Amino acid sequence: MNFNVYGHDQQWLIVDCGVSFDEPLMAPYLTKPEPGTSKHHVVAPDPTFMTERRDQIAAMVITHAHEDHIGAVAALWPRLRCQVITTPFTAAVLNRKLAQAGLVGKVPIDIVQPGSQKTVGPFTLQWLTITHSIPEPQALLIHTAIGSVLHTADWKIDGQPVSGKPFDAAPFRALSNLPLLAAVGDSTNATKAGFSISERICAEGLFATIKSCEGRVVVGCFGSNIARLISLGRIANKTGRYLACVGRSLENMVGIAKETGYWPDDIDVIEPAHVGYLPPEEVLVVATGSQGERRAALNRLATDSLPFFELEAGDTVIFSSIVIPGNEKPVERLVEKLYNKQVRVIQSEHTDLPIHASGHPCVEELKLMYQWTKPEIVIPVHGEPEHLHAHAEVAKSVGVRKTFVGRNGDVYLLAPQPGIRRNRIKVGRIPLVQ
Ligand SMILES: [Zn+2]
Ligand SMILES: [Zn+2]
Repeated sequence: MNFNVYGHDQQWLIVDCGVSFDEPLMAPYLTKPEPGTSKHHVVAPDPTFMTERRDQIAAMVITHAHEDHIGAVAALWPRLRCQVITTPFTAAVLNRKLAQAGLVGKVPIDIVQPGSQKTVGPFTLQWLTITHSIPEPQALLIHTAIGSVLHTADWKIDGQPVSGKPFDAAPFRALSNLPLLAAVGDSTNATKAGFSISERICAEGLFATIKSCEGRVVVGCFGSNIARLISLGRIANKTGRYLACVGRSLENMVGIAKETGYWPDDIDVIEPAHVGYLPPEEVLVVATGSQGERRAALNRLATDSLPFFELEAGDTVIFSSIVIPGNEKPVERLVEKLYNKQVRVIQSEHTDLPIHASGHPCVEELKLMYQWTKPEIVIPVHGEPEHLHAHAEVAKSVGVRKTFVGRNGDVYLLAPQPGIRRNRIKVGRIPLVQ
């Protein structure tokens, strides 16, 4: 979960405000959790440092609508009470969350277009369109009187992202003229060689897989990956199937994509209630629950507890996702239940066709980013210590002279004298009730 805070001239800029799922309240790298330590379904960052300085918050910027970046806004805003700045798709997702929390109309949301510029307090912000796995991902360039910082947020280089514009290196290349004090960036795939695969290649892999299926096809994927859903809609059109979305988060996201103009007119989505009346070979269902979540659609399908239809022998379930570390057991149990129903299961880890594409940069993408932007310092974030260290090594390999690898609660001084102050800020996790 992300909660980054940039300080300059007695003012603070918060970048992202996310949650994490099924976590203990103490980060595992700080203490080895005792077996049986209680986990909380949803945890948020402890915002005490900022709530104690509420008058000094210039704004909160949300870079994109993934839960680990947006999920804690509704819960923490009443303690922060600052303006929230974000782009239209992300604002639409946020508004639904605020409505559920009874906060709609109370939180001042300033909607900016991707690529715009705006000054809040001592920070001049420039949004840079990047590619990721959700509509409207934005990197943020933060200018101050003493220097500029690039906050990449989550990104990858995708030349054919299916939804949205292809990755454009020009705005990043332009940063090499700046002096760029620091780049703060995504470490998720810093241990993976090469390049991430394009969403377009993933669509081709899914098409080849689904084309040869005979019964019903159910695809598990993240609801927020609108590009993946669009690809599946096109595959449904090409293979004579009807597309249905099962699971609340998926239905919500498709609704928001339609509202904000990200859903193509030529892709129809049928009501899940109609699926039961269709011949199996005409069914393509996208379902939530690819991480084995107990109450999500895939698990309910595996236990025949969805009202719309049941899976039978000869049907296929495709996991267009990876197993997020920590979820191996629930996914294994889900797959087992599907096998017991004689349903064919295809997981991205066990097939040669590309049926999942990560939204994060691998080693070669990180190298390009630093060759283009030439930051004085690289600060790896968004990863476990292993990923942060790997990311720092990648940066050094392309000539970045300084890298700061730290932990939650460390303060990074960027100018005039760069350095890290370890453990300066009280941080932690607080449980959220859902
Ligand atoms: Zn993220
Ligand atoms: Zn993300």
